[in-house]
Amino acid sequence: MLIGGEWVEASSGAIAAVTSPFDRSSLGTVPLGSREDVRRAIDAAREAFDKGPWPRLPPRARSEVFLKAAALLQQRLGEIAELESRNQGKTIKQAADADLPFSIDNLVFYAGAGRTMEAKSPGEFTGDGTTIFRREPVGVVASITPWNYPFMMAVWKIAPALIVGNTVVLKPASYTPLSTLELGRAFQDAGLPAGALNVVTGPGGEVGDELSRNPKVDMVSLTGDTATGRKIMEAASATVKRVQLELGGKAPFVVFQDADIAAAVEGAIVAGFVNGGQDCTAATRLIVHRDVRAKFVQHLLERVRTIRVGDPLSRSTDLGPLVSPVQQKRVLEFVTKGKDEGAKLKIGGTDDKKKHPKGAFVVPTVFDSVAPDMAIAQQEIFGPVLDVLEFESFDEAVEIANGVAYGLAGSVWTQDLRTAIKAAHALRFGDVWINDHLPLGSETPHGGFKQSGFGKDLGTDSLLDYTVLKNIYVDLTGQARKSWHYTVYGDPA
Ligand code: NAD
Repeated sequence: MLIGGEWVEASSGAIAAVTSPFDRSSLGTVPLGSREDVRRAIDAAREAFDKGPWPRLPPRARSEVFLKAAALLQQRLGEIAELESRNQGKTIKQAADADLPFSIDNLVFYAGAGRTMEAKSPGEFTGDGTTIFRREPVGVVASITPWNYPFMMAVWKIAPALIVGNTVVLKPASYTPLSTLELGRAFQDAGLPAGALNVVTGPGGEVGDELSRNPKVDMVSLTGDTATGRKIMEAASATVKRVQLELGGKAPFVVFQDADIAAAVEGAIVAGFVNGGQDCTAATRLIVHRDVRAKFVQHLLERVRTIRVGDPLSRSTDLGPLVSPVQQKRVLEFVTKGKDEGAKLKIGGTDDKKKHPKGAFVVPTVFDSVAPDMAIAQQEIFGPVLDVLEFESFDEAVEIANGVAYGLAGSVWTQDLRTAIKAAHALRFGDVWINDHLPLGSETPHGGFKQSGFGKDLGTDSLLDYTVLKNIYVDLTGQARKSWHYTVYGDPA
């Protein structure tokens, strides 16, 4: 773990094994951090914020550290992508060609964006004085990340926080700590001052909980499950911490009658099975107009049959294992629930044990005739399971799409501009794509509505989440008694 600029073991000496979800082989061990360890990290971050150089550096100097870290990561991209693929189970082509390059671009973006921070221009609003508005860092930020995109989510959390001068304690998910430790190493090698970024491995219930409660932490930022978000809000309430939450999703993918069906099917395959479906924006609810549903499902199944399931380290694999046997079990339980509820299992729904006896696989799965109120249409499955639902009217499509607790992302598929824009406006989701599903850039704000959380990752809006606005007033009259004093005491001058 990285605490106060030193690489340390857990104070108890405890370790946690990290295991490959593909073949259960050992990938090594990491320290099993405790409350005591994370308290040391919080103290280091507090000291670095209150007295250290990082918050006091000019933006240019912080930017230089970011660019150096990005360059170091670029040099090690292949190695870290492989580590990510081995640890998480995602395919190497996704890790090496998408997640890692995008994360490095995020760092480069924030290296520049951090230099543009400004507040509104000051003015003489009272008549007697002038005002300066400043954006300042929040303080010590706890960043807690999930296991689905370990490296990328860590970058999305720490980059906007650090670049504006906060100091950070970063806690990766227990399953997937390896690439996050390398991120810490890159920042350390790039010259980030000691204590500005600390990385603590350990269980959420202990290390994460301490981060959410500790009075020396000013803000908690989580990407994770909605249930975890609730716990963090509760724990953080005692000290009224600022909270930023990127939580679960159940994305609608609405296919209108006039959509290009071939394009919609390609989109559904990619957006439904991305990262093995372990993606908060994954297109899990394919809501298809009644007139085109049969054609859509037929094409979809043809494409699903061609998905290559296997070793994530092979470039010709499209779908690797899920992150863990626990996640595999959870997904298969949803398959059983779907069948019990009366949805029609068209393909998949099994663990592929014959081909991959040790891997946490679930093969690509499609349910048809899914009703909007079924558990598989309401809850986040987080696996390679697609639901096909049907609608007749525009209003019904919108009602089904919005009829979940989540509001993270969704897409609409149509060739009619008016339908596209009307639907995009009606969907209560933070990201809405038209005739595509998934693309994000470093510049695009990403974050949920409703129980998908609040706050934004990416873009310059994220910088607002990690700063506080200060108003400084300067008297310009030089008078002992100002014109307004009589309203409190005495008579007008
Ligand atoms: P999770 O909520 O189980 O874990 C996330 C992190 O929280 C982990 O580091 C975990 O150790 C920690 N944690 C667990 N209990 C805690 C507690 N009581 N206090 C503090 N921290 C605690 O989520 P996961 O299973 O790792 O990831 C999957 C979830 O993440 C899904 O719900 C997915 O939709 C969501 N996600 C959301 C986004 C987004 O942008 N909105 C992106 C990726 C993932």
